[in-house]
Amino acid sequence: MTIRKFQMLVDGAWIDAASGRTYESRYPATGEVWSVLPDADEADADRAVRAADAAFRSAAWRGLTATARGKLLRRLGDLVAENAGELAELETQDNGKLIRETRGQLAYLPEFFHYCGGLADKLEGSTLPIDKADMMAFTIHEPLGVVAAIIPWNSPLYLTAIKLAPALAAGNTLVIKPSEHASASILRFAALVEEAGFPAGVVNVVTGLGPSAGAALTRHPLVRRIAFTGGPATARHVIRASAENFAKLSLELGGKSANIVFDDADLESAVNGAVAGIYAASGQSCVAGSRLLVQDGIYDRFVAALTERMARIRIGDPLDPASDMGPMATEHQLGVVETMVDRAREEGAEVLAGGKRHAGRHAGSGGWYYEPTLLACESDQMDVVQNEVFGPVAALMRFRTDAEALALANGTQYALASGVWTRDIGRAHRFVRDVHAGIVWVNTYRAVSAMAPIGGYGASGYGREGGIHSVLDYTELKTVWINLSEQPMGDPFVMR
Ligand code: NAD
Repeated sequence: MTIRKFQMLVDGAWIDAASGRTYESRYPATGEVWSVLPDADEADADRAVRAADAAFRSAAWRGLTATARGKLLRRLGDLVAENAGELAELETQDNGKLIRETRGQLAYLPEFFHYCGGLADKLEGSTLPIDKADMMAFTIHEPLGVVAAIIPWNSPLYLTAIKLAPALAAGNTLVIKPSEHASASILRFAALVEEAGFPAGVVNVVTGLGPSAGAALTRHPLVRRIAFTGGPATARHVIRASAENFAKLSLELGGKSANIVFDDADLESAVNGAVAGIYAASGQSCVAGSRLLVQDGIYDRFVAALTERMARIRIGDPLDPASDMGPMATEHQLGVVETMVDRAREEGAEVLAGGKRHAGRHAGSGGWYYEPTLLACESDQMDVVQNEVFGPVAALMRFRTDAEALALANGTQYALASGVWTRDIGRAHRFVRDVHAGIVWVNTYRAVSAMAPIGGYGASGYGREGGIHSVLDYTELKTVWINLSEQPMGDPFVMR
């Protein structure tokens, strides 16, 4: 395999790390090194933030009308569409996600830039019907300044687009820190940002490790907003860093989402929904439906149909469009999956399918494959029921009543997503009302859109990405008071 060398983008220049250090990234299907990237540290992060801050204050960026910013974003969306094939292949090479999935994501990605580009000149403030005589008051939405976007490895471009498009629409500038395991597609994308005509320094990309480059970025005094997607443990570091610079935060963390199948569900749809929820993307999805709660009356038929469907999942090279499931993105993650399944066995889980590594299509190649796994769990206190695996492992539980299903669904620290499979509209709505989750899918799973907010409660984080409000979330609200009176201002010691 020829090894590709990448540089990072800071202030319109493609550069190496100031220290000259690099790190390697591996192809998850074989474990071979395929790329070498700059290993940025505090000095590089500082340079990038200063470039973004200077760009934020520059006439080249601040002088643009919101309409002009919107046009740049729409042009960027068009360029992403034109280069979708190359971007998808780079991403698959980097994180091992199926080419079918990355192509699908890339086909949709331009919508984020078109949608947010359209919103750029529609951020209207309001005139307040103020209850004070001779006063006029109104609000203005202003950009915040430098945004640090911290991205995980599982969907680098999608998770970048959902941050960058609203941040730029609102007039901010960015420094993006991709995951050390999946930076290549973001670097290629950054070249398209340049090609679209954004001024130098508006978008910067710093590659490197979390504790060095990531930590330096999030605590930088010139950063005004941090948009983080990753795990809860890293999120705690990010929250502490923001205590230093008072940056506004959004945290999109993991989940232990419940996919709930009632007796009256359409069996085929529910089985497909379960597979989509936990085996698509090899379970490396924040919204993975990793807990399958199935009602007593349909349980045996559901398990039989699901295990039959699982046996037909084609595990193979992610670059092969015929594969249904690829490898884990990192060797470390493969280890996490193995350890959690072993612990589940020790805690009494019954392995109904899978439960071990898989050789992939090139047996002996060293790829990081794990079989689609189904674990029947008796107790909801088991580690695998309570904690995120981030792999193709479903914890299956049986329930009898609606109340029991709801208690199980709401019984973890996470609250990101939830799926409900039923043909009873009243029951569906009761679940929508009562379930703790930022997203509820009824008779579908993993539907996403530029127009729909995504985010969770509790240990799944706070803040929402996507939708109209995501653009407002990258603004500061200024309130303006104007005294219309012709009289001189009176007593200075009382509130007006
Ligand atoms: P991670 O938390 O290990 O890393 C995420 C990013 O944070 C990486 O870029 C990493 O380099 C950086 N980082 C690490 N330490 C840091 C520090 N001290 N300061 C600043 N940045 C630091 O997560 P991951 O392993 O890359 O991704 C998997 C996790 O992400 C899972 O828990 C998953 O559920 C979550 N995730 C959530 C969503 C969502 O939308 N809710 C989407 C995708 C992934």
